[in-house]
Amino acid sequence: MPNSAAAMSKTGMVTKIHTRIRADPFSAHYELVGKELGRGKFAVVKKCIEKATGKQYAAKFQRKRRKGADCRMDILNEIAVLELAKANPYVVALHEVYETSTEIILVLECAAGGEIFDQCVADNDEAFTEKDVMRLARQILSGVAFLHRNNVVHLDLKPQNILLTSARPLGDIRIVDFGLSRRMDSITEVREILGTPEYVAPEILNYEPISTATDMWSIGVLTYVMLTGESPFLGDDKQVTFLNISQVNVDYSPDTFDGISSLAVDFIKSLLVKNPRKRATAEECLSHPWLNPHPHPHPHRHARSASSLDEPETSQSESEPDSPVPSPDLDDLIGSYLTCPGQGELKAGRDAFSFGEPPFPARPEIQQEVIC
Ligand code: ADP
Ligand code: MG
Repeated sequence: MPNSAAAMSKTGMVTKIHTRIRADPFSAHYELVGKELGRGKFAVVKKCIEKATGKQYAAKFQRKRRKGADCRMDILNEIAVLELAKANPYVVALHEVYETSTEIILVLECAAGGEIFDQCVADNDEAFTEKDVMRLARQILSGVAFLHRNNVVHLDLKPQNILLTSARPLGDIRIVDFGLSRRMDSITEVREILGTPEYVAPEILNYEPISTATDMWSIGVLTYVMLTGESPFLGDDKQVTFLNISQVNVDYSPDTFDGISSLAVDFIKSLLVKNPRKRATAEECLSHPWLNPHPHPHPHRHARSASSLDEPETSQSESEPDSPVPSPDLDDLIGSYLTCPGQGELKAGRDAFSFGEPPFPARPEIQQEVIC
């Protein structure tokens, strides 16, 4: 087995940043308010008010040491990508950065509508309509096309990392969590595995090169989940999930896609393609007939039910975990990757993915685990 992910060099990271890292106390300038906005594997995110302006922000608290390793560079990489993407309205805006002896705090634009995850797993009446998904998909693609034009791959696109400016009425999307993002503008060897089990592309499991197409697979999964409320590859355990992904075992049955247009299905099919070079790019997706409809396909129907148009008031999810989400041990998954811009010309570093790991705890619903 290779070394642990933490011990490996993480090429493709950008660590040169322009934002001033403040050393004075965060609490001198901000007041924490309300409950937590969310948690990830290493971060806790809390709502705060800037004392000088009264403006609301989201403070992302991240420990610099994780599992005994210094991860300051990972956080600088995240800051660098946020700086690079600040011209794009669909990438969350970075306001300020603070550092203490143990933590780095990113002060971010607050996306008050919470994760699209909440509406992906909501009951029919609260679920997205196909028209909603079309609008949100355009915004996600526009943000991701911007990143890809700038040779950045996100590598962790999933409903927990796509937030909304407001839930009711449905606002606009903000892409967050650039902790796994990498630059693709030089031919680079990447020695880690990235992503979240249900959303990872087959090339990740096969130790083949990562490219911008890797994000496009995740957008295919994301769109499937937003429209159907079901996670297309999720199995009873992680091994089954990975087998489903590598076999592209997807249910496109009319039952699952009841009330959803065939153009939407066609859109998803253009992304859930095993060969990364044959997958649609973000720009191609933006030109897909589903997102440029003439005439509109069932625009007012709920994606999961053709009946109701009610959109009752809902609040943000109360279901965040009490502690950071545990993640499986990754040593078996860590491989050597070769990456190159947008393509994937180079040979993989390892033969194949091993299915000999202990399974995930079986959960029938959508999970939030990260394999790195
Ligand atoms: P991690 O890298 O640990 O996954 P994230 O950046 O994804 O951290 O943040 C964890 C969670 O916190 C997100 O899934 C979301 O629920 C919430 N969150 C993150 N950023 C914001 C923000 N700018 N506004 C509101 N909520 C946020
Ligand atoms: Mg996250």
